[in-house]
Amino acid sequence: MTINHHPPEDLLADFATGSLDEADHLVVAVHAAQCPRCSRFIQAMEHLAGAALEEARPIALSGTFKAIMARIDEGPAEPSAAAPVPAGLPDEDLPDILRRCHFGKRRRVAPGVKLQPIILPGAGQSRAFLLWSAPGTKMLQHSHTGTELTCVLKGSFAHEGGHYGPGDFDFGDGEVDHQPLVGGGEPCLALVAMSGDLKLHGWLGRLITPFVRL
Ligand SMILES: [Zn+2]
Repeated sequence: MTINHHPPEDLLADFATGSLDEADHLVVAVHAAQCPRCSRFIQAMEHLAGAALEEARPIALSGTFKAIMARIDEGPAEPSAAAPVPAGLPDEDLPDILRRCHFGKRRRVAPGVKLQPIILPGAGQSRAFLLWSAPGTKMLQHSHTGTELTCVLKGSFAHEGGHYGPGDFDFGDGEVDHQPLVGGGEPCLALVAMSGDLKLHGWLGRLITPFVRL
């Protein structure tokens, strides 16, 4: 897998210090688990943050990153009364981190586009979901009132920022105004964390915005 697009460094730093909300954290974790470059960066940030804290007060601190990776490395939970089996798991080859999540009901949000929410008990501003788009789907030109973090799991899409394939990470905020086009050949499956709302443009966008709720 060749990964060409990575999260911005400030996002990785916030991830390393554990200050992202749960949905954003999940998307960065899924990218970092398959990206040696970002894993190294996060580890370095952890090390720096740990050193700075230890200098301030000589207490042995367990690294956030280590704790996160330990959680990632944990095998699937043994079925027991205390650990309910994840609900609504889609029939897809998903990364281990996602296989331990609970999913809501999959629904169609636009022609060729289906969404399945991920239920995160501690989610803050952002919501996480899986998004399936049929090959060749042209999304409507849109911008955001909040942020949109995307990690491609399968297939590809492209917009003004480049071409995004498996493992690639795309970051969009209110400044970004784009119109993704899903690659031909196979459906695109992406993990998305979104805060705020989509703003669709053009007469069609204005017409259907009230009906599109991602
Ligand atoms: Zn990366």
